[in-house]
Parts: sequence; C-alpha cells; structure tokens
Amino acid sequence: MSKPNEMLSKPSCIKSSIRYGVSLLLVFAVTAVVNTPTATSAPPDAETCERLERFHGHTCPGSLMGLRLGLTAKEALKGHGKLKAKCFILACPVDGIQVGVGTTWGNRGLEVENRGEMSMVLTDIESGRQVEARLTEKATKKGTSYRELTGKARSQTAGSPERKGFEKDAEAVLDWFRTAPDSEVVTIKVLK
Ligand SMILES: [Zn+2]
Repeated sequence: MSKPNEMLSKPSCIKSSIRYGVSLLLVFAVTAVVNTPTATSAPPDAETCERLERFHGHTCPGSLMGLRLGLTAKEALKGHGKLKAKCFILACPVDGIQVGVGTTWGNRGLEVENRGEMSMVLTDIESGRQVEARLTEKATKKGTSYRELTGKARSQTAGSPERKGFEKDAEAVLDWFRTAPDSEVVTIKVLK
C-alpha cells in the first residue's frame, strides 16, 4: 500500500515545484515592470490642485508649474525615503513644489537658489539618486500666453464680452497646466 502513495507524492512534488517556479517568475515580472524607468505619472488630481490653490492663495500657472515639476521629478526618482528639493526660482512655483513633493521650507526639505530658472533638482537622500526637472518649451510658451491673455483682459471694460473672451482663454491655459500629460509639461534628466 505504500507504493501508490510514493507514486502519488512525486507528481504533487513536481506540481508544487512548478507552482513555485511560476510564482518566482511572476515576482520577477512584477519587479521588472515596477523598476522600468518611466516618467509617465498621471496629471495631478483635482483635489491636489484645489489644495495647492488654498495653500498658495490664488490660482496661477506658476504654482501649477511647480506642482507639475515636483510631481514628475518625484515619480521619475521613485524615491521612498527622505527627499530634498532645490528650486531655482523664488516665486509661485515654490509653493507648487511644497504641496506636490512635501519637501517644505519648514521640514528643511527645500532649498531655493534664485536664478530665475523654471527648474528644480530632486534628491533621494538615502540612495543619492538625483533628477532634474525643467519646464518644456511648450509649457513656457503657455505661461507667456497666460500673461498676455490676462493683460488683454484687464485692458477691456469689466464684464464686456471681449474681456470675458480673454478670461475664458486664460482659464483654458490653467486647465492645460492641470491636465496635460507630464511629457508635454516637464522634461526629466537623471543626474545621478
Ligand atoms: Zn501664484
């Protein structure tokens, strides 16, 4: 009676080996996908944009630019530990970085060197990895068009159809900054 049992135990052993092998393959496959270096994070959700607006005190392309730079840099870095941001402009984008990345002046996670450049460097303190995020040419032009549109709106009589038209176009630029794909707004360069 012991023979059939032995015979049965072999296939079940093989089966469990196969199962183990498949599980290992799955783990490798998932790890490979997670580690693939892509900078394709989704645009920020509406709640994050609203939080930025409340924190910053007004809606503007500059703070949204900072938010997009910060979020895309964070995604590209895939940092899990403490992060440190260095921003190269002292203006509205600083608040976008603080809200997006959580690296703030108060927690000593933010340094500002005002060169008037719309860019930042994000460092993962633990691994030493570092990425630079810059605004694309397209996003820079969108920022300029926003200033022109709001300037034109102000030159029109309050409540006039012309003014409303310029204001609507300016709002569309803000929407673009909220929703455009990362690749259209930010370019990422791996420094380390
Ligand atoms: Zn602002």
